[in-house]
Order: sequence, then C-alpha cells, then structure tokens
Amino acid sequence: MGNTTALVWFRNDLRINDQHSLAKACAQNEKVIAVYCFDPRHFALTKYGFKKTERFRAKFLLETVAELRENLLKKNISLLIYHDTPENVFPEILDEYKFSKIYCQKEWTPEEKDVSDALQKLLPSTKIVETYDQFLFHPDDLPFSNFQNIPNVFTKYRNTVEKDFTIRPLVSIDSKPDSNILEAFTEMPDLKILGFEDFETDSRTAFPFSGGEDQALKRIEDYFWKTKNLSIYKETRNGLVGLDYSSKLSAWLANGSISPRTIYWEIRKYEKEVEKNESTYWLIFELLWRDYFKLISLKYKSKIFQLSGILENDYHWSLDLKKFEDWKNGQTSEAFINANMLEIQNSGWMSNRGRQNVGSYWAKELEQNWLIAAAYFESMLIDYDVHSNYGNWIYISGVGNDPRSRKFNISRQAEMYDGDKSFRKLWNSKF
Ligand code: FAD
Repeated sequence: MGNTTALVWFRNDLRINDQHSLAKACAQNEKVIAVYCFDPRHFALTKYGFKKTERFRAKFLLETVAELRENLLKKNISLLIYHDTPENVFPEILDEYKFSKIYCQKEWTPEEKDVSDALQKLLPSTKIVETYDQFLFHPDDLPFSNFQNIPNVFTKYRNTVEKDFTIRPLVSIDSKPDSNILEAFTEMPDLKILGFEDFETDSRTAFPFSGGEDQALKRIEDYFWKTKNLSIYKETRNGLVGLDYSSKLSAWLANGSISPRTIYWEIRKYEKEVEKNESTYWLIFELLWRDYFKLISLKYKSKIFQLSGILENDYHWSLDLKKFEDWKNGQTSEAFINANMLEIQNSGWMSNRGRQNVGSYWAKELEQNWLIAAAYFESMLIDYDVHSNYGNWIYISGVGNDPRSRKFNISRQAEMYDGDKSFRKLWNSKF
C-alpha cells in the first residue's frame, strides 16, 4: 500500500458494505477520504416544468447520506458533503487533500458520463478508477462476448445466464487508522436548502421507510427473517395496498445503499435455513430484470431516452398537455389509473402493477408521448433508477423489449387486482 490519499466519490453506491470502490481505495491507499455532492442540477426544473427530483426522493437521499456519513465515521473515514457540482468541488479540494486517485462506480448514461468526463478534463493528473458495481452479475462474468450480444428478449437472456453462473462474494472494509479522520466539517444540506418545504409522510403510503444502508438491512431482516414474507412473495407481488406485498427494496437498490449481491446471498441463506420455493427464486428472477435493463442501457446507450426507443419505431405520439395534467392529477376516466396516479403524487411510490397500468394507459391507450411520463416518474419516484425507469417505459410503450407489445385492459386489471376496490377507495375519497 503506497503512502497515498484516495478519494472515494459516492454517487449511486451509498453504502459501506460490498462497495467495491471503497474496498479498492482502502486496500490500495493509506488514507481515504470520501465525498458526496448534492448536485443542484438534480433538483432543477426540467423542460416540462416540474423538478427533476421531487421531495420524496430528496428526503430519502438526505437520510441515506446522513447514515452513510455515520457508518463511514465508524471506519474512521470522513465523508465531505457539498451542495455543489463535482466539477466545482473537486478542483477546489484537490490542493487541500492532495488525492492522487478518485474511485467511483462506473456510470455510462449521458448525464452521469458528462460529469465524469468533465472531471477528468479538470483534473488531468488524477486517475479516475471506475468499477461496475450496480449489477448482480458482474458484466465481465456474463456469457456474452460483448454488450451487443445481449439478447433483446429477456427470457433468452435469463435462460443463458441461468445455465451456469457465479455471483461474486461480498467485500467489506476494515477500519482505517484514526489519523484518517479529517478536521474539516461540511454541513449537510436539508430539504429547505435543496428547495423543498418540510412535509409529513402520507399515512396511506405503501413505502413508509427511511433512507440508509441500515434501513435496507432492517427491511431484509423484517421481510425475510421476521415475517417470512419472502416465502410467499410470488403470490403477493402483484398487490397494491400495504407494506408487504413485495420486498420494497427498490429505493435502497436505486441509490446503492444496498447491493443486489447482498440481497442475493441473503436469499440463498434463507433458502438453506428456512425454505427454498418458487417465491425465493422469483425475487432473484426480478433482480435479473433489474440487471437486464442495465445491460440494455449499456447496449443501446442513449436510445433508451429517445421517443423511437431501441426499436426505432416511428409511431405517431401526441402530446396533449391537458391530458397530461389529468393523468398526473388522477383525473382520467379510469378510477384505477386515478388511484395509482394519486398514490405516486402523494407518496412518491407506486406498485409494479400500478406502474404497468398507468404506463400502458398513457402510451398505448391515449397514445401520448411516453417521454414526459417517464420524466414525471423520474421526478416523483423514491426508487427512481435511470435504467429501470427508462427500460420499463420503452418496454411498456412498445419501443423496447416486449416481444408481444401488450396493451393492458384497465378495467379487467382493476377487477383482477382490486376486486374489492380497497385500493381505489384508499387513494380516491370520492370513489
Ligand atoms: P419487488 O417485486 O420486491 O422486486 C425486487 C426487486 O427486483 C426490485 O426492488 C427491483 O430492484 C427489481 N425489479 C422488480 N421488477 C422490476 C422491473 N420490472 N424492472 C427492473 N427491476 C425490477 N424500478 C425501479 O427500481 N426504479 C424505477 O425507476 C422504476 N421505474 C419503473 C417504471 C415503469 C413504467 C415500470 C412498469 C416499472 C418500473 N420499475 C422501476 C420496476 C418495478 O416497478 C419496481 O422495481 C418495483 O415495483 C419496486 O418494488 P419492490 O422493490 O417491492 O419490487
């Protein structure tokens, strides 16, 4: 280990366990400092007139970073927190901390890549060490010679990877020597500084959880071990009401406060110690979907953000702003759509069943421009993840990976999944 200082730049990998950039930085350098930037661009208005990040995810992120700072401190590593862009922060702190390398998670989507490219230009003699760390399967372990060979149909992908696979073991870090702690103290912003009013969590929410790595682990403890709900996941996962119809792990996964490998190994442990059944397999199956959309994003790059999608279909899309307001505010002619849209508007959460229905309704029933709807989800969702969101939106809009391009029959869906109307009544008092 050289007498060097490394900087770990935290982005969507906000954890200390199974965090490869952190582990590498600690193994290869004597001193390690960490930085997180609340980038003002993430909280600005989009061209559609709403914020890029709304208050629900902002609050969850603040909680996440606060917990990360505490957990890092327990390892004698300081997390410097800024409310500024990395391009402004890093050159300014370079002189003071004299780091020779920046370790971070590899990102490839244009907005994220632009920032790392700009940083490399501003800091030409600093090496940026990037690691793919958001996957269940490390891309290097996949049985495809390059990303272009990733099948366009999920089942084909799944069958290939499931034949023979290894999930890498978890990594952890030891405490750094005490001298590693910095004198410098940076203030954590709050909701107000990020541009929001304080707010109460809606008592009807299906996602009442807080951000942070410890909270993610607590959720696993509850959902797997205490309640054993994991054993019935396959039967309950299409639910709409309450905390436990699905794992609710997406928000922690999205900002990286837990790794998919941690979840995977915990499921395997559960299978050994409690039981192995279709439900335990199905949660892994869903994590494969998550990986798959990331691989599609790697394969097709910015096409996932284009109206014509990866299929380059030239469908005619309308953009009726009145229809958008009605959809957004839960004022369409479909009570089931309205309840789901009121749920996301008031809580930042919507079930997978709900997301598929409101997406299909918007893109296939109303034939409206799916990009504005995806941007609205990006703004509102606590669990927004760039690949899962845009990958699912192109899928549901018929310009992605759905070989059948299905359109949902909304009233049938409402009957099947909300037969007793409890979900519609919960979110729509007039119903
Ligand atoms: P569970 O059912 O418990 O599944 C476990 C995990 O598997 C999830 O946490 C998630 O990481 C992964 N997963 C499950 N379904 C999917 C899927 N269809 N695509 C990708 N990963 C999946 N998920 C996000 O994490 N972020 C998003 O921004 C997002 N946007 C979506 C937009 C649309 C239009 C649709 C139809 C789906 C979207 N999803 C997104 C996928 C899915 O709805 C959520 O992952 C899921 O509802 C989260 O709840 P859970 O953690 O309880 O999931």
